[in-house]
Amino acid sequence: MANDVLTVERVSKIFMPNIIALESASLNVRAGEVHCLLGANGAGKSTLLKIIAGAFRPTDGVLMLDGVPVELRSPAEAARLGISMIYQELDLVPQLTVEQNLFLGHAPSKFGLINHKERRRRSSEALKRVGAKFSPDVRVETLSVANQQLTAIARSLTMDAKIIIMDEPSASLNETELESVFEVIRDLVRHGVAILYVSHRLGELREIGDRVTVLRGGKTIDTFDVASTSDEALVEAIIGKE
Ligand code: ATP
Repeated sequence: MANDVLTVERVSKIFMPNIIALESASLNVRAGEVHCLLGANGAGKSTLLKIIAGAFRPTDGVLMLDGVPVELRSPAEAARLGISMIYQELDLVPQLTVEQNLFLGHAPSKFGLINHKERRRRSSEALKRVGAKFSPDVRVETLSVANQQLTAIARSLTMDAKIIIMDEPSASLNETELESVFEVIRDLVRHGVAILYVSHRLGELREIGDRVTVLRGGKTIDTFDVASTSDEALVEAIIGKE
């Protein structure tokens, strides 16, 4: 479809010697939606995320960005094309400042060398978009986990991400903190960013998700509209018929 930012088409991944982690998995993520990915342990979620983020190469299948097939040879290449992955561990360097972290891993070919003033402008803008109440000059290790999460999202924004992949962002947040992250996510999708959101929790999915794709045993079972699908139907998709 015209507004599909990311299309995953029949992607498989076989780890040596013969572990089939993904088998012909397909999904599409639209601009301006929160697309959730659900599945039991071992269903293949991390493998799929890593393929989308350029960390793993698929054994088979095609990835498309804005309808154009792409080969992602590295995470840097994925980032350059607008795919930003936020791992559960956030991948921030605690001893560096927020601003230094915002520009870590930027691919020079897209952004060139930018001067201090431009960095400050971009970091202030990104931090404002995520509603950060802390200075770009504080070291990341002094921030709460929630503020570190906001820093990681701001970093995706400084990279002009079209699609942000969030791997279980709720794992280390309390309810209030999670709600503030949700507010940021809602604002981003209003502005056309696509979010691929991984979680085990149906409650979260109800609160933030537009559509959800269920993975089971490496296969994508289906994609559902969150609002019109019952918990029972989702659970059945996750675990299969009893
Ligand atoms: P979890 O929720 O536990 O993280 P998951 O849905 O993310 O699970 P994956 O981590 O993608 O699942 O794993 C899918 C399958 O692939 C599992 O059987 C796993 O053991 C296997 N697997 C994952 N990574 C590797 C690897 N590097 N080498 C071999 N097998 C792997």
